[in-house]
Amino acid sequence: MFKELLKGFFTGFVTTFKHLFRKPVTEQYPEYKRTLPPRSRARIILTRDPDGDERCVACYLCSAVCPVSCISMQSAQREDGRRYPRWFRINFARCIYCGFCEEACPTLAIQLTPHFETCEREVLKLVAEKEDLLVNHGGKNKEYNFYRHAGVTMVGDKGTHVNEEKPVDLKTNLP
Ligand code: SF4
Ligand code: SF4
Repeated sequence: MFKELLKGFFTGFVTTFKHLFRKPVTEQYPEYKRTLPPRSRARIILTRDPDGDERCVACYLCSAVCPVSCISMQSAQREDGRRYPRWFRINFARCIYCGFCEEACPTLAIQLTPHFETCEREVLKLVAEKEDLLVNHGGKNKEYNFYRHAGVTMVGDKGTHVNEEKPVDLKTNLP
């Protein structure tokens, strides 16, 4: 019994001693900032299409899918009929960075970025308005333009439209 106690005691010391000479793995934040993968989910932005127009068409899908109801907006319409959000607000004090809004967005307007340094002492500063969210680039997919895909009339054969793949003959999948 005493022998086992001594063994356990010295094993602990040996383990600690070995770690004294190992390279530390602690990352000294904020002096050292790790580059996060591009798909990390943090700060949310509203992006623009390649023509410089804001992508958001105020369809409310992101707002509807958000599990904590932290997105709100009011839709408006331009003279050419294109919709846009008159105002767009995200309450980052409630956001859980789940990414559902990005998944639901048909125009790739709303995107989560790896920028995670968004901490604030005053909670009201975590409410972001459209001018805080709207950026001057296309984010993850700079080429995508919703209006080059939406509303395309169905002329021609299936599989011949923009970025459309040839239809699959389901019978060929049968065992
Ligand atoms: S990341 Fe999730 S919680 Fe945050 S705004 Fe989008 S849907 Fe809502
Ligand atoms: S960000 Fe996307 S999902 Fe949300 S309202 Fe705008 S177009 Fe719709």
